[in-house]
Amino acid sequence: MSCGFFLNYKAENKPVNKLELRKLEQKINNSKYISKVFGLLGRYKNYYVVSALLLIIAMFFRTVAPKIFQVVIDTLYSSSGSNREQSTIEIDKIASTIKNFAPELTAANVVKVLLVLAVIYMVVAFVRSALVFSANALNAKFTENAIKNLRDRLFKHIQLLPMSYHTSQPKGELIQRCTGDVDTIRRFILNDVVELVRMNAIFIFSFFMMWIVLPKYALITIALIPIVAITSYIFFRKEGKIWLAHEDEADKLTGITEENLSGIRVVKAFAKEDQEIEKFDKQNKAKLKIGLKHMMLHANFWTFSDGLIHLQFAISVLAGGYFTLTQQITVGELISFYTYAWMVTWPLRAVGRIMSRMGMAAVAMQRISTILEKKIEDYAGDKVESLRGEVEFKEVSFKYQEEEVLSNVSFKINAGESVAIIGPTGAGKSTIIALLNRFYEPTKGAIFIDGKDLKTYDKAFIRSKIGVVLQKAFLFSTSIKNNIAYTADKINEDEILDAATTASINEIMDVFNDGYETLVGEKGVTLSGGQKQRVALARTLLNDPDILVLDDSTSAVDTETEFTIQGRLKNYINNKTTIIIAHRVTSIQNADKIIVLEKGRVKEIGSHESLMDNGGFYDKILELQTGIEATILQDIKKEG
Ligand code: ADP
Repeated sequence: MSCGFFLNYKAENKPVNKLELRKLEQKINNSKYISKVFGLLGRYKNYYVVSALLLIIAMFFRTVAPKIFQVVIDTLYSSSGSNREQSTIEIDKIASTIKNFAPELTAANVVKVLLVLAVIYMVVAFVRSALVFSANALNAKFTENAIKNLRDRLFKHIQLLPMSYHTSQPKGELIQRCTGDVDTIRRFILNDVVELVRMNAIFIFSFFMMWIVLPKYALITIALIPIVAITSYIFFRKEGKIWLAHEDEADKLTGITEENLSGIRVVKAFAKEDQEIEKFDKQNKAKLKIGLKHMMLHANFWTFSDGLIHLQFAISVLAGGYFTLTQQITVGELISFYTYAWMVTWPLRAVGRIMSRMGMAAVAMQRISTILEKKIEDYAGDKVESLRGEVEFKEVSFKYQEEEVLSNVSFKINAGESVAIIGPTGAGKSTIIALLNRFYEPTKGAIFIDGKDLKTYDKAFIRSKIGVVLQKAFLFSTSIKNNIAYTADKINEDEILDAATTASINEIMDVFNDGYETLVGEKGVTLSGGQKQRVALARTLLNDPDILVLDDSTSAVDTETEFTIQGRLKNYINNKTTIIIAHRVTSIQNADKIIVLEKGRVKEIGSHESLMDNGGFYDKILELQTGIEATILQDIKKEG
């Protein structure tokens, strides 16, 4: 990407809001999250230590290589007869050890000496490669394991988070954190933790190699390093906040994509593709804007730090010339010094890159931690053999946010009764069921099951014993059979058939090519709303709950089938407590008790007969619905 492009882009788009970035800066605490990233290595720590030690040894061998060249050059130099006075310079211990491996140099055995030195070089290179390979293999294996553990932990945590979290959290954001952020951390641990060890080892060993020859020259080769270190740190801080802003925009983009794909049918039905494309493009631009800001930061940093590094190297080259001319080092040492000077400056450049990815990993860890730090549901509580099915709401009030959606709701359902809850949309019917499932806790009052406060029960137990069939049936992308048997430990064909027959799904099985084995959802056929509801009903029936809740669960089924299902359910229900939420009065007339709910308050309770003539909501809705049905019947008769 050319510089011109950046300039043009900047001219067209205002730079990212500084105030926002400052706010983000306050949100990030890099060191805390970096230590959390390292904390992920947990039980594999020792393997990383071994991997690091192998690398450190390998890097020692790497810094020995220039010494071999130094010995070769000085040997050739002295054998050529020139510059003999250099032999008066005392050579360092490592160079003299290498030299000791080779035979004493004479005019006749120059080639033999060089061959021995070449073999030493090969051995050193081989040992180094073997060590690096082992270190990398260990690192890769345990990084992948540590990241797998993180993914598992994250997914498990998300599963255990309360319903209130799931209903308020955009799914796109969660997906982005489970995939993109985990991968950012993975890349950092896999490539950069090792790289950090390697860079430090190279730096220390190279510096040591120079120090044992001429300390003042060694110090000159790192003179500008403090400036590079300070700018790297500033860069690291900036990187964090810009990356956090970038990831926030990426979350939104994933959210838009996720929502669009989930609702593609609605988009197409209203021919709103262009509007969706525009919405996506707008968010994509916002992400691009901060992405370019990120790249600009990199471009500036690299240009500055590269300039410093080259300046540092130029100083080292000049100083080396001076020290050689003043005979403080040999020509071989000068050559090795040049290599070492490069080897101490090169890690610094890499450190900038590592710092950059460390900043990104810190942000990723922070974003993941915001999920992991959320309190999970407390499942602890009592379990009993089975529930009798007595349900009592005592002055229950509830609010999702500010507004109260249930106010002082009180009613009692005796064990084995069938009760209908009826009321306008938004009256709070589904909220009553959500409270019964302990997806939320009442803000006031209490709920009792079999005379015991609902709070004292184990949540998972209570949810498994209260079978809820929702209006909006959700099926997994697997076969119809597996969907019905979702809660079963073992697939029992007879039980599946029983449940499917009660839910009236058995009769329509021949519509599907593979019967119960037919795949549904993304990988298979799309079921109609009514078919989905029937499969969902069969799934709940198979679980054999003690209390059955049908939340408008046959709304998409035709009236005839609904009656069939109701007839069959009677046998199934037997003495189970049943709560039915329905809009068709005709389908709840036989209920033992009808609760009329309006604006979160109980308006009427009683049987069909007792509510029929008291002029309340039930009476009105009954009149309206029976009136409509009578008109339809008359019309049919006339047409007939
Ligand atoms: P009904 O089932 O009678 O149609 P609901 O129980 O679904 O009514 O909703 C009652 C009220 O609570 C409505 O005003 C609805 O907007 C609100 N509500 C429902 N679910 C949530 C939620 N998860 N967060 C905030 N408000 C909600």
